[in-house]
Amino acid sequence: MPTYHYIAEKPEEGCPRCRKGFDLRRPLDRPALTHCPLCKKPVVKVLQPFNTPKITKPLSVSDAKSAGFTVLEKRCDGSYEKR
Ligand SMILES: [Zn+2]
Repeated sequence: MPTYHYIAEKPEEGCPRCRKGFDLRRPLDRPALTHCPLCKKPVVKVLQPFNTPKITKPLSVSDAKSAGFTVLEKRCDGSYEKR
């Protein structure tokens, strides 16, 4: 379940919780939260969560491997070899 970061649209009107922003785990198929569950003021979703590593450079094979991906290389005979 992804974690989203929300913050009050107008922090001066929000409660202590949404004024500083809060994290909420939410299933992907749920619509985005639009109002603070506590004070019902409008909140906006922060698109770049603070605790998610930023991927700014292209993912290299070694990066993919260290991230736990299995990298498959196509061999000449058409089979795949696990590297
Ligand atoms: Zn609030």
